Amino acid sequence: MEKCFARHYATGEAVEIRYSSVIEGVDSLIHPPSQPLPFVAPGWIDIQINGFAGVDYNTPKTTVEQIGQSLDAQARLGVARLFPTLITNSYEEIAGSLRVLAEAREKLPHGAMMDGFHVEGPYISPEDGPRGAHPQRWCRRPDWDEFQRWQDAAQGHIKLMTVSPEWEGTTAFIERVVRTGVVIAIGHTKADSAQIDDAVRAGATMSTHLGNGAHQQITRHPNYIFDQLADDRLAASFIVDGIHLGAAFLKVALRAKGIERSVLITDAVMPAGCEPGFYRLGEVEVELHPPGDRVTVRNHWRLAGAALRMDHGVSNLMELVGLSLRDAVTMGTVNAARAGRVAGRQRGLAVGERADLVLFEMDPDTKSIAIRRNIVGGSTLFES
Ligand SMILES: [Zn+2]
Repeated sequence: MEKCFARHYATGEAVEIRYSSVIEGVDSLIHPPSQPLPFVAPGWIDIQINGFAGVDYNTPKTTVEQIGQSLDAQARLGVARLFPTLITNSYEEIAGSLRVLAEAREKLPHGAMMDGFHVEGPYISPEDGPRGAHPQRWCRRPDWDEFQRWQDAAQGHIKLMTVSPEWEGTTAFIERVVRTGVVIAIGHTKADSAQIDDAVRAGATMSTHLGNGAHQQITRHPNYIFDQLADDRLAASFIVDGIHLGAAFLKVALRAKGIERSVLITDAVMPAGCEPGFYRLGEVEVELHPPGDRVTVRNHWRLAGAALRMDHGVSNLMELVGLSLRDAVTMGTVNAARAGRVAGRQRGLAVGERADLVLFEMDPDTKSIAIRRNIVGGSTLFES
């Protein structure tokens, strides 16, 4: 049994947390120490991350060792659990990438940080705008047999799939997939109101990066953004880098969804955390622009994923939207766990939950966060 002393992220109260691989106790300190304590929160959970620090999850050429390096880099930022995310591609590329990820999850000492895999596409809109930077030629209708073969390649670790209900046959596909325990999200879509409603009835429970992966111009109403914003049966994830979504949309969206249905994701791509310059993401040439916070298709305005980190996302929610630390952390931890069905992480700092604890200091003015220690499943993976 180990313990740490810190300030509870939700209350500011000084607490002693006792833990093994799970949290054994959370007690208020009757005599808090006089020196300032760092905050403690549940470790961040990112259910949409395509790569990081030069490591791309979207190719079978990536090695187990490289995946380990990307996990180390994430651990330094306070991330406890993540869903490596694969975008639209051929059957073989996706299957091969899933095989490598499953092998890495098995072999790496901290492989369990990869709580599940997110397959975003290829059953999404082929249309310019909704498909974002996904290669058009691989966008296709849902295929149950193909999905099953991917799940086999992933050794059962696909936990989240993003689809567009604009394809015929999506409803039946969603019904079958959710029966296997996989979460279905709606995203990269131009679906109409009825198609979105059908998808939700069939079992879709989330919207992927709502407000992005959309046309530059849409009908003022009805449209697929309002339809999803208004549906209380859907949680929604948001890319909070200050680039993908403006502060006004974020404020409105978070009020419409309620904090309890809102999830912070990074949607980071391989160049995130690297030097600005040109990179290759599968078939697409991209540019990471200085100072390293924006990734676009080369010579094009179109965003190709983000260069966001979870600790910055939490800060941005406070800075851009005015959320409290408690709400910002909740979006990147408990809500992500609920939307992605991450076991042992849905109740926050509670006895019996996995001992994923991040200790950090926060500048009260800028809200910038400095990670001091990251404990994942009771083991310290990073300490500064
Ligand atoms: Zn996307």
